[in-house]
Amino acid sequence: MSKNIIRSTSIDHLIPPKPAHPLISIVIPVYNEEDGLQALFDRLYPALDAMVIALNVRYEVVFINDGSRDQSAQLLGKQFEQRPDTTRVVLFNGNFGQHMAIMAGFSYSNGDYLITLDADLQNPPEEIIRIAELLIEGYDYVGTIRVARKDSFFRRYASRAMNQLRDRITRITMTDQGCMMRGYDRRVVNLMKKSKEINTFIPALGFTYASKRVEIEIKHEERFAGESKYSLYQLIRLNFDLVTGFSVMPLQAFSLIGILLAIASAFLFVLLLVRRFIIGAEVEGVFTLFALNFFLLGVLLFGVGLLGEYVGRIYEQVRKRPRYIVMGVLEEEAMNKGDTLDDES
Ligand code: UDP
Ligand code: MG
Repeated sequence: MSKNIIRSTSIDHLIPPKPAHPLISIVIPVYNEEDGLQALFDRLYPALDAMVIALNVRYEVVFINDGSRDQSAQLLGKQFEQRPDTTRVVLFNGNFGQHMAIMAGFSYSNGDYLITLDADLQNPPEEIIRIAELLIEGYDYVGTIRVARKDSFFRRYASRAMNQLRDRITRITMTDQGCMMRGYDRRVVNLMKKSKEINTFIPALGFTYASKRVEIEIKHEERFAGESKYSLYQLIRLNFDLVTGFSVMPLQAFSLIGILLAIASAFLFVLLLVRRFIIGAEVEGVFTLFALNFFLLGVLLFGVGLLGEYVGRIYEQVRKRPRYIVMGVLEEEAMNKGDTLDDES
């Protein structure tokens, strides 16, 4: 009899057991956040210390300095000196973006469970414990919904529209894709690390690999200091990554539009041919023809652009350049274990 056959009806033995005092890694990307970092430390560490007592866990905090041009790196360095036993700082030598920073954070974390959050205190550190509880309970993906979201009207409206679009064209279903405060099981994170995607969207990538998901509502606060690091252009690019990175449906929809337009044009041609025989040569309606032409040109350019998005992604992927470059890591010898040794960029 083949040894692959599972005779037991329980699948519990397929899931590796978790340690008694699991390690929770908190991953925080930092880009020009000097004005708010001290406030973050002041709230984050007490919240985590409270979690240690309440849940009988251990924790480590992994900060990634995403090429900040202000004093953020120095502040992170100082914090590392104060809490070296629970802090690690990964220093990039340039700005590679929030999602790549989190990816690097995953590679430099040892936790059984990993929780990501923003450095600007929009995600209250006191909510970490609720996410940790669910991960320990066995969920491998804890999604979040921001209640009473404290962002501009434009951001909230655009975000709702993007959530709806993503719902239609991908298989990813989540209520609030933009909230980065989320929890992942180590298994899901390992799969994300293996994916090696150049432009990715972490909450969506995690979602695709998870098998036991849950969503909770969490509080959302105003940015403590500074401004959003995303310009309108960057937000558009990020959403392109989400759409083209997780679905080829836009391409298929475009092919469909092409087919429909071709059929309509064929009808128009037949109609014009018939009129040519009945009425004779016509030159009226030149402007209508122009309008029609411009419209078709617009559709065509859109299609070329869309195709370009996918080709661009393939190009970036096949170049196989490092996704991020780590300049240095501040960590204690004892913390440096597991898969953090090899740089998985
Ligand atoms: N961030 C980053 N690299 C970037 C942009 C942002 O590491 O290129 C970090 C930033 O420091 C913050 C988090 O990502 O911790 C979210 O950024 P932000 O608050 O600007 O985004 P928003 O809340 O406006 O979506
Ligand atoms: Mg923010």
